[in-house]
Amino acid sequence: MAVPPPVAARAAELRELLTEASHRYYVLDAPTISDAEYDRRFRELTELEANHEELRTEDSPTQKVGAPPLDTFRKVEHRVPMMSLENVKTRAEFAEWIERMKKRLGDDAPETFVLSAEPKLDGISMSVVYVDGRFEVGATRGDGETGEDVTLNVKTIRGLPLTLSGKGWPARVEVRGEVYVTKADFDAFNAKRTEEEGRYVNPRNFAGGSLRQLDSRVTAERPLRIALYQLVDAKGLGLASQSEVLDRLQEWRLPVPRAWFRRCESDAAAAAWFEKLENGRGDIPFEVDGMVLKVDEIAQWEVLGARSRTPRWAVAWKFQAQEETTTLADIEISVGRTGALTPVAILEPVFVGGVTVTHASLHNQDEIDRLDVRIGDRVVVQRAGDVIPKVIRVVTEARSGELEKFPFPDQCPVCDHEVTVAEGGVVVRCPNDICPAKLKGRIRHFASQDALDVQGLGEKLVEQLVDEGLVKTSADLFRLDVETLEGLERMGRKSAENLVAALDRVRTTTLPRVLYGLGVRHVGEVVAELIAVEARSLGGLLRLDEETLAAIDGVGPIVAQSVRAWLDVPDNAALLADLEAVGVTYPEPERATAGRLLDGMTVVMTGTLPELSRKDAQALLKEHGAKVASGISKNTTFLLAGERAGSKLKKAQELNVPVLSEEELLAWLHEGVVPAFSKIS
Ligand SMILES: [Zn+2]
Repeated sequence: MAVPPPVAARAAELRELLTEASHRYYVLDAPTISDAEYDRRFRELTELEANHEELRTEDSPTQKVGAPPLDTFRKVEHRVPMMSLENVKTRAEFAEWIERMKKRLGDDAPETFVLSAEPKLDGISMSVVYVDGRFEVGATRGDGETGEDVTLNVKTIRGLPLTLSGKGWPARVEVRGEVYVTKADFDAFNAKRTEEEGRYVNPRNFAGGSLRQLDSRVTAERPLRIALYQLVDAKGLGLASQSEVLDRLQEWRLPVPRAWFRRCESDAAAAAWFEKLENGRGDIPFEVDGMVLKVDEIAQWEVLGARSRTPRWAVAWKFQAQEETTTLADIEISVGRTGALTPVAILEPVFVGGVTVTHASLHNQDEIDRLDVRIGDRVVVQRAGDVIPKVIRVVTEARSGELEKFPFPDQCPVCDHEVTVAEGGVVVRCPNDICPAKLKGRIRHFASQDALDVQGLGEKLVEQLVDEGLVKTSADLFRLDVETLEGLERMGRKSAENLVAALDRVRTTTLPRVLYGLGVRHVGEVVAELIAVEARSLGGLLRLDEETLAAIDGVGPIVAQSVRAWLDVPDNAALLADLEAVGVTYPEPERATAGRLLDGMTVVMTGTLPELSRKDAQALLKEHGAKVASGISKNTTFLLAGERAGSKLKKAQELNVPVLSEEELLAWLHEGVVPAFSKIS
């Protein structure tokens, strides 16, 4: 039965629509149709093809669902070996590479190399061959000479076109790159897996496991992506540079994650981009473990040539490792201000993420159980950015002999008081109010930057003061004198004088700082400010009942209950009186006065402002009566935007929320120049 022309046309239309949608979703990261619509169109095409066999073309998106399982993977010999890259680890090694190339080129060496910088994806290397514009073979790297034929699996990768677009491709094209999985897709997949099914340890391992399925129908269900950036025999195509190669691959609609590629005009520019990429690696949606740098000009590749396994014109500049393996020497329990017992991993020192790490967080009992971590284990430690290092898994294979499970203490390690277990067993606390560990935590909090901000009162000193019995409450700090302090170990006359002077300075403070410094549960800086306005004084605070507290805009019942319960403890009430007794003073907080310029307005901030720090800008806005919110909505009065404003700016524009610069804001507040948009003026 011949296919009626309208049906054939519809099938062609659907093929194109679905292919385009996949390209936009997987390659450009800019989807145009919803998943539901994609599925609908996909089903429509599948039906048409079921009714009319001849419509099922080889490049149809329906052919991306996998094929019956194989017994084994066939071997594929690479026509041109897949080389690896020389690694450099430091700026000095990078500079050496540049020098070596210059030396080799001699008189022909350029002043500086133009370099193509590419993210070093942490995935599975892949060679993809198109014959007459049609996808033909997908093969792994293997040993570089011979890889495995994973064609059926690669075919299921939705971002990979089964036919090349554009023109100018030769009869046989081989492109190379990496198969990978985004961090988000990896997390989502693992979250759905049960423990019996097993979870993958990282995106790379997940990509590899998915690619090595003998049943490509399984692979088709996995969110694999592919990035292609190397063209075998680029010179034969008359291309002069790696940048041109990337352009050409994109013209053919091959997936090139171009947002992360840079053409760097000099090695200094490349080094700067490297630094930027490394610092921002957390924002890259896929795992990247370094940057590949290639001399951009292809003519120079030939002159520079290759060693046995690596080309001389490219290197992989590795990021500092964020994960390392070391031995768990001990687990210590620390007791914080709230009495929470927190296990801390004591590690054999290991260099990771650019620093030597000796301690790592273990969070709580649950985490210890989940990791099944035992003292003496080999553990993998992760340190990403500035966050506290953490133990992410145990190298169970390396466990030798019998290691005992860690017994979580049922007594406070500091005061021996029996612990309480709350919040479903996750939080273990010492309930003893005079536990020295809690007292130390409270003093540290009271003296911290956002509370009283006492300069020169470090952790060690707080320990000493509490251990010597010199300080039993925060108020006692103000009773310290130079003579007493001088008598402490490691404390000279000068430091003692400085500390007393610092304490004297902060004796005059603000009520919100004192309230925050008390460390009442649920009372952060913002809530402290709100309560201060209502309380007006420490004495006034004591008189606030739960109902009044709960009625304060932005406070609510949970906070109110927590504050009232705290005030009802006699020692706490005594502390408030004592703080006044030792001369802590503060101006009476002003009630919101009517008629301020920004009264009733909700402002959101984004980006880096030229003059004001975030904190200062926030204070300024509040001082003029504005409420500062974190997210844009249609209730936002205006967005205060600085440099590098991101998604908030976009959202504001979408919602027609006015955008103000710092300059405009200051001119408005200080000089009365009303900004030019009707919503405000
Ligand atoms: Zn205790």
